[in-house]
Amino acid sequence: MDYKKLQPESLMMSYGYKPSLSEGAIKCPIFQTSTFVFNNAMEGKRFFEVAYGIREQEKDEELGLIYSRLNNPDLEILENRLCLWDKAEDCAVFESGMSAITTAMLEFMEPGDLLLYSRPVYGGTDHFIHNFLKKLNIESVGFLANESKEEIIKRIEESGRADRLAMIHIETPANPTNALIDIEMCAEIKAHFETGEKQIVLSVDNTYMGPLWQHPLKHGADLVLYSATKYIGGHSDVIAGACLGSKELMGRIKGLRTFLGNMTGPWTGWLLMRSLETLKVRMDQQAKNAEEVAEFLNNHPKVEAVYYLGNTAKNGTDADKAIIKRQFKSYGAMIAFDIVGGEKEAFAFLDSLQLIKLAVSLGGTESLAEHPQTMTHADVDAEDKVVMNITEKLVRLSIGVENYKDIIADIEQALKLTINHRLS
Ligand SMILES: *Cc1c(COP(=O)(O)O)cnc(C)c1O
Repeated sequence: MDYKKLQPESLMMSYGYKPSLSEGAIKCPIFQTSTFVFNNAMEGKRFFEVAYGIREQEKDEELGLIYSRLNNPDLEILENRLCLWDKAEDCAVFESGMSAITTAMLEFMEPGDLLLYSRPVYGGTDHFIHNFLKKLNIESVGFLANESKEEIIKRIEESGRADRLAMIHIETPANPTNALIDIEMCAEIKAHFETGEKQIVLSVDNTYMGPLWQHPLKHGADLVLYSATKYIGGHSDVIAGACLGSKELMGRIKGLRTFLGNMTGPWTGWLLMRSLETLKVRMDQQAKNAEEVAEFLNNHPKVEAVYYLGNTAKNGTDADKAIIKRQFKSYGAMIAFDIVGGEKEAFAFLDSLQLIKLAVSLGGTESLAEHPQTMTHADVDAEDKVVMNITEKLVRLSIGVENYKDIIADIEQALKLTINHRLS
């Protein structure tokens, strides 16, 4: 059987793991160890030469394990499995999504450089860009989902640092309103400013679409970043992150990870491997449920607008429809909607939910609801909030794997109570 031809979901239980190396255990054990014993001193010397880049790994040279900050079987097998979904050459896992994002930014930018990023980005990323990177004299230019390539290029030129553009970081679809960004357009902007000596890195935070529904590397991205806390972990019980890309770029990222020491521990790696076995069935069900929930919201009199990729695919602009067709394999499982009224009605709705939990985060097996304006996006500039439709009547839902009829029944009863609340 040609393993290379199998779909990723068929390989998540076994890929990269040899039972004979672990007493025949069918599952990869948790290698809860800080260090590994060398067979002899010469072997230790050889492992270190390669790990520290003193020499290249020889063809057919088997490399062993050294120390769990550098490598550990639970991390390496997990990384190999993650590569299958995005068809990436290499992967590095981190102790959080934020550590994956910040390590990539620190590796590929220097003081004096310029970062182009899509707005809105995840709150933590936004904070890092505007506070920590600024302290390093790394400036940033933001752009919105509907801006044209020409407008963005002009803005970069006007920044006075066009020759120092080092990185483009985007999120699509945007959180929480599902606004779309064309990855191929960003690759063209990158090509416009790239020169023979200067490489620009295009990174896509693909957390919202998980590894199943969008594959940024195929559209010209250099790096894919994930908060593995979300769909990859999928059970709201672990914080983790991942970065994927070419061998060359990942070699640099892994190098910095070794010295920052922000790799995941073996236990987290093991949990994520367990999660990957059900990634496809979970995400398929979540997307199916979201379709039903969106349909219900579309037809509810107490709901003004529904932000869901399935709606954009039907009623969006031609440009948006084209991006959906090219970039997305699913409409995802994130829905935001405007409730009729304002904060009072939105809060009454959230406080009335019973099955759906009032919590931030997304992508887990249980459905969650939150209020972006006062919670996940509280930090965003007031003016930006208006531009990005993050108003007091906006509610965000992450749809889980429950029976969709029960999710809808919960939303329905909470919307009813919201009406009573308004009258009282
Ligand atoms: C949650 C999230 C992050 C941060 O991930 P952590 O695992 O919490 O560090 C980054 N980007 C997006 C889009 C997220 O949703």
